[in-house]
Amino acid sequence: MAVVSGTPGGPSGGASGGAPVGPSAGAPVCTPLYDPDREAPADWGAVQDRLAVLAVRYGAMRSREVRRRLARAGVSPEGVRSAAGLTAVPVLAKDDLPALQASEPPFGGMLAVPAGSLRRVYRSPGPINDPEGRRDDFWRVAPAVWAAGFRPDDVVLNTFSYHLTPGGMMLDSGLRAVGCAVIPGGVGNTAAQIDVACAAGATGYTGTPQFLLTLLERARETGRRLPFRRALVTGAPLPPPLRARLQDEFGVDVYQSYGTADAGTIGHECEAKDGWHVSIEIVVEVLVPGDDRPAAEGEAGQVVVTSPNEIYPLVRFGTGDLSAWKREPCRCGRAAPRLTGFLGRVGEGVKVRGMFVHPRELAGALGGDAVVARYQAVVTADAGGRDVLTVRVEAAQGCEIGDEEVAGLAARIREAVKVRAGVEVVEPGTIDSEAPALVDDRSR
Ligand SMILES: [Zn+2]
Repeated sequence: MAVVSGTPGGPSGGASGGAPVGPSAGAPVCTPLYDPDREAPADWGAVQDRLAVLAVRYGAMRSREVRRRLARAGVSPEGVRSAAGLTAVPVLAKDDLPALQASEPPFGGMLAVPAGSLRRVYRSPGPINDPEGRRDDFWRVAPAVWAAGFRPDDVVLNTFSYHLTPGGMMLDSGLRAVGCAVIPGGVGNTAAQIDVACAAGATGYTGTPQFLLTLLERARETGRRLPFRRALVTGAPLPPPLRARLQDEFGVDVYQSYGTADAGTIGHECEAKDGWHVSIEIVVEVLVPGDDRPAAEGEAGQVVVTSPNEIYPLVRFGTGDLSAWKREPCRCGRAAPRLTGFLGRVGEGVKVRGMFVHPRELAGALGGDAVVARYQAVVTADAGGRDVLTVRVEAAQGCEIGDEEVAGLAARIREAVKVRAGVEVVEPGTIDSEAPALVDDRSR
């Protein structure tokens, strides 16, 4: 983990115009725990190549699962010499873990050390058993905590579950690595959590954004004000209107991170709050479902992780989560490219004219539109067998969707899903409130 340092300015603190780039307006320029040598190395590609080679060789040595998969594909561990060389190795799907672990308990041959040398063992939905090694901040959460602005004098209410699932401990260990004091709030007990957070002067929150809003509103109803100044949220979507509300109405500066129990932190936001910089200790690929080719910039694909973790090495572990690359350099100076956010799960997508369209992308284009009450995308085939994407929209009460709005919606949909769509305005009440947002009608 990077050292806590007070290096003013961080790697690119003073942008070309000299404007300070800080965690929030008015704050001193400070971007640390943040070791520029590590997070902004001169040659990002060389670091990635080294991680890939290490993960494959160590995995082949210590993980029966990796060894078996390489052998089945006819790949020798020494044959993988770079991150690009990983393409020779088939992806292991997270969805296959329950069966794999059942056939070879408890970890499906993936554990590189005896189970007795772990710190803890967890059980996630799936069911999937998750190991925690004895290294502090095993899941590499501290860089996300630091980037969100938490500092050693913060008192933080952590509302992820401490029971069986690893979420609570994941954030807890990251907060402690930064030097924060943690209130292990866990799930539920809203009134007690508000009491203790107020009593302890909790300056920070970790948990889902929805529960944060619940706590803030409940406190307000009872005439109190939670002293939270910042929050690190994960495990649930953070729609922009919710982030704006938490900031504007309650003064909480909200950051996101993304990770899984198996792979640890995969990405996190910086002060730019514009995508998740991928973790510097793993190799992240975004692969188009179906043919597993690397996704183009902006194209949705499965997040696939390769990690030379000392107790749980992963080689091309398919998380089942969909995201997309945003490779343009970030103003914070971190070299790691960014993921655009959570775009859904593999399997929810429908392939239209060679491109996967996902409900989450449609929601991004249409979900926040005040004029659209309901929408549904339908994929059909024309007489020539070509795919046709039509998005049916219902106007919100008192609104009208004219030609100009239709053109605007069509442009936004095209931008979001990369496929041209027809927009059809239908009478209010046509689309069932329970109807799926994306329907494949080609078989009819
Ligand atoms: Zn950044």
